[in-house]
Amino acid sequence: MGTMVDMEKKSELIFISSTLIGHLSSILELAQILINSDNHLSITILIIKHQATPFSESYIRTVLASQPQIQIIDVEPPPEEEQTPIPQFTASFFWSFMEWLKPHVKSTMQNILSSYPNTVVGLVLDFLCVPFSDVGKDLGIPSYLFFPSNAGFLSLCLHFQKCQIEDVLNNSNHELLIQGFPSLVPSSVIPDDYYTRDEEQVVACNKLTKKFTETKGIIINTLSELEQYGIDTLTDGQTPPIYPVGPLIDFKGLLNPSLDKVQHNRLFKWLDEQPPCSVVFLCFGSMGIFDPSQTREIALGLQRSGVRFLWALRSPQTTDNKAEETLPEGFLEWMELEGKGMLCEWAPQVEVLAHKAIGGFVSHCGWNSILESLWFGVPILTWPIYGEQQLNAFRMVREWGLAFELRVDYRRGSALVMADEIEKGLKHLMDKDKIVHKKVQEMKEMARKAVLSGSSSFISVRKLIDDMIGSN
Ligand code: UDP
Repeated sequence: MGTMVDMEKKSELIFISSTLIGHLSSILELAQILINSDNHLSITILIIKHQATPFSESYIRTVLASQPQIQIIDVEPPPEEEQTPIPQFTASFFWSFMEWLKPHVKSTMQNILSSYPNTVVGLVLDFLCVPFSDVGKDLGIPSYLFFPSNAGFLSLCLHFQKCQIEDVLNNSNHELLIQGFPSLVPSSVIPDDYYTRDEEQVVACNKLTKKFTETKGIIINTLSELEQYGIDTLTDGQTPPIYPVGPLIDFKGLLNPSLDKVQHNRLFKWLDEQPPCSVVFLCFGSMGIFDPSQTREIALGLQRSGVRFLWALRSPQTTDNKAEETLPEGFLEWMELEGKGMLCEWAPQVEVLAHKAIGGFVSHCGWNSILESLWFGVPILTWPIYGEQQLNAFRMVREWGLAFELRVDYRRGSALVMADEIEKGLKHLMDKDKIVHKKVQEMKEMARKAVLSGSSSFISVRKLIDDMIGSN
């Protein structure tokens, strides 16, 4: 009898993710890949709610509905008598929010440890949740970092963590030599949080990064075919072992906060009617909202370029103003008449990029968007806005030659990108003879190969599991 129980006992992993969409879809994909790769594994996901991303919880439950090997547990902090930090999207907010949550996470994990038959072999932490590695340490569980971005951004975080804060704040160099990058990196593409005069942000970023280096391994949503140089540099004996397991893509496209069935059908009916590779898709991530004057320039650029387009035009959540109301006069009527364009608030991006009518993508260069575009072989015109997107855009254009440049250093608050530049960029993007198109097709093949049995990311997943289970 004892042997029977032992045989059924599984190795349990506890995942903790922030509820930011760009982090969630890939970490949930990782959880499913691990479960499907080894039936000795079982996973529990702790959900931490965040007021700024209300649809995340239902997304997690939908994605995991058909995965009995993955359990979901809510971390329930008692909010009444304690002051929750005010939600923001800055490193210092996330640091203090996670610190505030630590005792609640600890008691949730203690409950798991005392009630589960399985042996907990590891804690997998989204990078914003890395402060919980302290809880792991207290409870004797090794932590693994899940880095939803790329090896280059990780190298940059490590670079700044090693710098003296005064050097960062006083640095006026226009180009930086950063380990992991084959050439100098312009300071204009360094993420705001890392290269700012705001000492609080710099300190918070560095505290987070320090914690990265204390984990047992770093799982990255990248593929060695794309980032071999950066991955080799990180394999230096000092940084924890690196596991490049990407691309992790949510092909089911269940993330869908605001598109109903009727809109969905309308959108795909229209796409079905367009010639192959003729439509430009414009989408700027989960937080990609422009102000009215920039929205108008985009509309004029589209109109003048004459290209067919599908535009995910997001309205601000904080006001009742609909973005459509800020479009130039007559634009909607023109669109209707010409039949060349389609608007939506939230686009089912993966499904859209997979559609044969899509020939180009104007993207904010969030890392998931980049991986999705490469997977479907759709070239990007770069328009970064926030986070590490400027760095991603720079690398796509200059390091890899995999994208067309509209801007690599645009950020929220930059001067307007004018309609004529947008028009030119769109025409460039849709010109099929360009070498970029060829390179994107080659990378598409490599990305698809990387996840096949026996290939790079597949081997990394196997090694990760062996290291996790073996360490127990
Ligand atoms: N996404 C989507 N529809 C939208 C906007 C975003 O499906 O209208 C998805 C997109 O496919 C990607 C994720 O949301 O998987 C956004 O992640 P990314 O890293 O590109 O950008 P972030 O939102 O984190 O800035």
